[in-house]
Amino acid sequence: MNVEEQVSTYYNMLLKRNAGEPEFHQAVAEVLDSLKIVLKKDPHYADYGLIQRLCEPERQLIFRVPWVDDQGVVQVNRGFRVQFNSALGPYKGGLRFHPSVNLGIIKFLGFEQIFKNSLTGLPIGGGKGGSDFDPKGKSDAEIMRFCQSFMTELQRHIGEYRDVPAGDIGVGGREIGYLFGQYRRLANQHESGVLTGKGLTWGGSLVRTEATGYGLVYLTKEMLKSHGETFEGAKVIVSGSGNVAIYAMEKVQELGATVIAFSDSSGWVETPNGVDVEKLKEIKEVRRERVTSYVSEVEGATFHAEGSIWSLPCDVALPCATQNELDGEAARLLADNGCRFVAEGANMPSTPEAIEVFRERKIHFAPGKAANAGGVATSALEMQQNASRDSWSFEYTDDRLHKIMANIFKTIEATAAEYGHDGDYVIGANIAGFKKVADAMLAQGVI
Ligand code: GLU
Repeated sequence: MNVEEQVSTYYNMLLKRNAGEPEFHQAVAEVLDSLKIVLKKDPHYADYGLIQRLCEPERQLIFRVPWVDDQGVVQVNRGFRVQFNSALGPYKGGLRFHPSVNLGIIKFLGFEQIFKNSLTGLPIGGGKGGSDFDPKGKSDAEIMRFCQSFMTELQRHIGEYRDVPAGDIGVGGREIGYLFGQYRRLANQHESGVLTGKGLTWGGSLVRTEATGYGLVYLTKEMLKSHGETFEGAKVIVSGSGNVAIYAMEKVQELGATVIAFSDSSGWVETPNGVDVEKLKEIKEVRRERVTSYVSEVEGATFHAEGSIWSLPCDVALPCATQNELDGEAARLLADNGCRFVAEGANMPSTPEAIEVFRERKIHFAPGKAANAGGVATSALEMQQNASRDSWSFEYTDDRLHKIMANIFKTIEATAAEYGHDGDYVIGANIAGFKKVADAMLAQGVI
């Protein structure tokens, strides 16, 4: 069997064995597509069932999460933790609380996380977890009871050397606090390295809050530089308005760009004069309100419930909301309107068709597993500080993040060129992320 046949036979088997998990299929298909290039050059990477093992999680946990709401009614959610690959270090990856969460979503995120974490150059494996719990409209007390119930089960599966969860969509500082408190109580020890994204007085790291958004901009800056551009004077669309989007907006504006639009699930906001990020932080992070509040409080901003945020002419697009938010049609709109750079702050926000359009229309595209790795990289820096019972300054930590992102860009650019696909950062990221994990797995035998 040649490489094409070998990979497609394996992919068809994966589709059958993982039925009803389209996002997982999508994430695997994209990586396998890049791996064909490696396998043709370095066939030993197909030995010892390596590809099959890579696509099969080491462990998948699904558990009941019962909790009592403010009306005294019992609610039952489903909890997940997929411990995908620990060849490079303890499983590492966030927890997502969102009604769309199911096993397939967590598997796609866990699979992406393996390569992303490998690209950071730090010793972390890949995992992901979460629940179909919807935090929207819940009281603080309900969030706390849910987190406590979730952790009551999860605690037996995690640990500083085993699996280190953090935040993702729907899980921020408040949730990490409740989760950590319950873990500490049940474990009867202050094991700060068991979770990242902690508060600054109890083992958290400076820069972790800003890290995914800042890191995205640091990597995009390198991509711009490599094509003779800067953020100075650029028009930037940032979808989303959560943690990643907010700090991406803050950093691009600091670098002289104007953010001309952002969004949430209710619609998008057009901001031709830029975004008042401090105001947006207050609305989203303190008051926990929707972007419509921004429009009623800040002059010059208009709300659109219809149409596409990607229809505005821009130089750079940073999708920072969620998976598959940017489809082929949106990619064509961006290209038609002169956009030249796209970098993913969210996990897999561009559909496969959109990525094809980026290739055809020569839009420089940095995939999430490289571009949004700054969050998890800074989580690994938080783990380093916890292990040495130290805490680093903002400047030092930010500098480490900056260097990590610049290094990721250099690696994916060089790898794409080495494998004959100059400028294709999807291929560069997949291959570079893969090789490090693959070498470790081959060295460690068939397990
Ligand atoms: N959820 C983030 C991601 O997608 C961060 C994970 C972490 O810090 O462990 O990479």
